[in-house]
Amino acid sequence: MSDPVTVTVGLGERAYDIVIGPGLIERAGEEIATRLPGTRVAVVTDENVAGAHLEALKAGLGQGGVDAAIVTLPPGEKTKSFDHLQEVVDAVLAARLERRDTVVAFGGGVIGDLAGFAAAITRRGMNFVQMPTSLLAQVDSSVGGKTGINSPRGKNLVGAFHQPKLVLADTDVLDTLPIREFRAGYAELAKYGLIDRPDLFTWLEKNWPAVFSGGPARITAIAEACRAKADVVARDEFEQGDRALLNLGHTFGHALEAATRYDSERLVHGEGVAIGMALAHRFSTRMNLASIDDATRVEAHLKAVGLPWRMADIPGELPDAETLLSFIAQDKKVSRGTLTFILTHGVGQSFIARDVPASEVLSFLKEN
Ligand code: NAD
Ligand code: ZN
Repeated sequence: MSDPVTVTVGLGERAYDIVIGPGLIERAGEEIATRLPGTRVAVVTDENVAGAHLEALKAGLGQGGVDAAIVTLPPGEKTKSFDHLQEVVDAVLAARLERRDTVVAFGGGVIGDLAGFAAAITRRGMNFVQMPTSLLAQVDSSVGGKTGINSPRGKNLVGAFHQPKLVLADTDVLDTLPIREFRAGYAELAKYGLIDRPDLFTWLEKNWPAVFSGGPARITAIAEACRAKADVVARDEFEQGDRALLNLGHTFGHALEAATRYDSERLVHGEGVAIGMALAHRFSTRMNLASIDDATRVEAHLKAVGLPWRMADIPGELPDAETLLSFIAQDKKVSRGTLTFILTHGVGQSFIARDVPASEVLSFLKEN
């Protein structure tokens, strides 16, 4: 059995560890009791994760002598709502937890974002521990402190920065994740290679089957992704600069999610990011910034792992190019009529491009 790997997010007094490896659910009580002595916890989870792993987590917490209240919510993006936020806050207060007690998010990015926001606002900020159970949450959303819910007016519009005290990523739980969700998380993993880690991308091109099947390669990949994210977050916690690079693929991706009305049957977030990353590379070649070979290489890899990589891969009709552009223009990365995109000079050479002419984007969308 592989040993866990620890990555530290360097935020001074608020620095925290991300522990990645097998069997961490069974050890959760011990890890939490050692790092947050005397804490009581409220575990927030969803029905899918609870069905597969809650008994093991309860046993693991019990073994460390950690007393836990449990809140189980319905799965899916709609759970990131004011109603469910209220439900979580109420359950935490009903369990009489204090500020130094801990909210534990045990689920994918939906549960992590919601529970983290509940921790940020209940008693003016409680301790928070992330136990991510989806690949997307393990490589991305559980690290970095962005928490929040959706408003009827848009995704992630209500939230707070609230860093966890600890992230425990048990790589065994990914065995019960549906393959489509695994692939979607893989898109965010490949993203770090495409941003500024070309060696990671080359490694993934060769080793992705082993990442999918589990074992040491999976742990290596997740740890590398967490290192990449931890680096960016430590440099730019509140997204005033570099952290925006993590949005590679997200401007096109969010527009496609909006265009499919967040219908997970048609498109889940990571799939939108996959198509968005391919489009960002293709668009960069159109702007004479990158070579066609790089764009083709990215598309080939996404295709190889079974991810969608072009708009035609989305089932059902998409709106026309003008409408897609209007979704892009509603994206928060827009200022004064021009668009801010993450573009690239090639694999691992992404950069923030401000003042991208909307007309170029429109012609590009018409051709693709
Ligand atoms: P999710 O939480 O909906 O999980 C995906 C699906 O997998 C759900 O049906 C869930 O019940 C199921 N699931 C999770 N773990 C499982 C397991 N081990 N076994 C079986 N089923 C399991 O979605 P996600 O893809 O994990 O996260 C997407 C969310 O994350 C979005 O709301 C997005 O906005 C957010 N996000 C946040 C950040 C951030 O920095 N805070 C970053 C990226 C994404
Ligand atoms: Zn994302």
